[in-house]
Amino acid sequence: MSVFVLALDQGTTSSRALLFDREGQVFAEDHCEFPQHFREPGWVEHDPLEIWESQLRAARGVLEKTGTPASDIAAVGITNQRETAVVWDRASGEPIHPAIVWQSRQTMDICDGLRARGLEDEVRSRTGLVIDSYFSATKIRFILDRVPGAQARAEAGELCFGTVDTWLMYKLSEGRVHVTEYSNASRTMLYNIHTLEWDDFLLTALDIPRAMLPEVLDSSGVFGVVTKNWFGAEIPIAGVAGDQQASLFGQGCFETGMIKNTYGTGCFLLANTGPTPFVSDSGLLTTLAWGIEGRVEYALEGSVFSAGATVQWLRDGLRLIDDAAESETASRAVSDTGGVYLVPAFAGLGAPYWDERARGTLVGLTRGTTREHIVRAGLESIAYGSRDVVDCMVKDAGLSLDSLRVDGGACQNDFLMQFQADLLGVAIERPAMLEVTALGAAALAGLGVGYWSGLAEIAQSRGAVKTFEPTFSEAERNALYSEWQRAVERSRDWVS
Ligand code: ADP
Repeated sequence: MSVFVLALDQGTTSSRALLFDREGQVFAEDHCEFPQHFREPGWVEHDPLEIWESQLRAARGVLEKTGTPASDIAAVGITNQRETAVVWDRASGEPIHPAIVWQSRQTMDICDGLRARGLEDEVRSRTGLVIDSYFSATKIRFILDRVPGAQARAEAGELCFGTVDTWLMYKLSEGRVHVTEYSNASRTMLYNIHTLEWDDFLLTALDIPRAMLPEVLDSSGVFGVVTKNWFGAEIPIAGVAGDQQASLFGQGCFETGMIKNTYGTGCFLLANTGPTPFVSDSGLLTTLAWGIEGRVEYALEGSVFSAGATVQWLRDGLRLIDDAAESETASRAVSDTGGVYLVPAFAGLGAPYWDERARGTLVGLTRGTTREHIVRAGLESIAYGSRDVVDCMVKDAGLSLDSLRVDGGACQNDFLMQFQADLLGVAIERPAMLEVTALGAAALAGLGVGYWSGLAEIAQSRGAVKTFEPTFSEAERNALYSEWQRAVERSRDWVS
């Protein structure tokens, strides 16, 4: 009987490999960083071969250091940086251009062109997304425009496009499979999330040949086989999801209305909305969460642009703290912010305000304001920004929230978690095992080969959870939140 599931967590700055045991615990981990390439201002690219080699090294590393033979691995699961686009030669496997990373702004002009053609509503109604250079479609267009002869080769079926999951599966199977799954497909801005097909209208609008697109499969189930060449024995690849959807799955948010928040550099919130794709009035994205046994589930997605980044700014910009953890002790040294609000609109505001001319604002200062008040206002701003998004989700999808599941670096801050619970009026659940994104990929893979029996067993594998119960009255909570909204108003429409 197989002992482990191997999760490959291919992120923006590093590739990781984790072995999960049957209890859903991490047995061992290895990782490998790889270079970022900035050929022009605003561009972010990766070498697809460096992505692949770093991922291979991490996977071999975790097997070697634990002395685990490939025959002990029940399945491989993959979770990946989303939206990043790779185009390669189908026969040779050679990339024809660097991978264009999700963050890269190099296709802003192409996006402007799509907007000028009035395609915004078409994109939203078909893909659930807004026109933005984050998503893969305009990155593919950019590559086909830049590489001589690429358009004709793509039309002749000689080129493959893939998000990073697709690229890794192509390499792991030595070119035998060209496949993806629902969560990754739904981030390309080419996939119709209602008909569950590549969208002919959008393919035509962007002149992207269908022949270069991967086949879209369930997120759980066998996609292909890792050839013997890589780890010494064949292993099925049996679960795949983009990083945020994998985290939703790893958090056990299997039911409609369950929401997770990942507190990283920014916050990423996803709400499972079950079989219904809700259209948001607040500018949240509608996306596919996953597909299992032919049934897809949808999610609403929103983000807070500056979360952990605000803590970094308190540390590196203002030098008010020496390290991120000190934000907690400083905040606890005062009983409140003394009426200070920090709106970290460093790069504008997202949902529900969508104001790119907003800028960071510190209001309510008096002669009594101290460093601790400002640090606390910074931490609290993360919770306020998250409440902005949660309120949109609840309103847009008519959800009733009864708890929020959390992960990401800044969720280790107990003060922040308690304030979040107080401000939302619901319990915050933080798992002891914080590798939920990798667990999500492992869980989809384990489910795909019968290593785990079903969702109930996977939900158990989440293990111990620390719960932060709300302590504020509704009146207290709403009073604070309406002050926040007043502060946000002060930050808006600043840059002329
Ligand atoms: P990412 O995946 O976006 O790089 P991580 O999930 O690794 O982010 O989290 C790192 C972020 O969390 C950093 O921005 C850091 O400032 C913040 N962070 C880490 N520990 C704490 C803490 N104890 N309190 C507040 N913020 C923290």
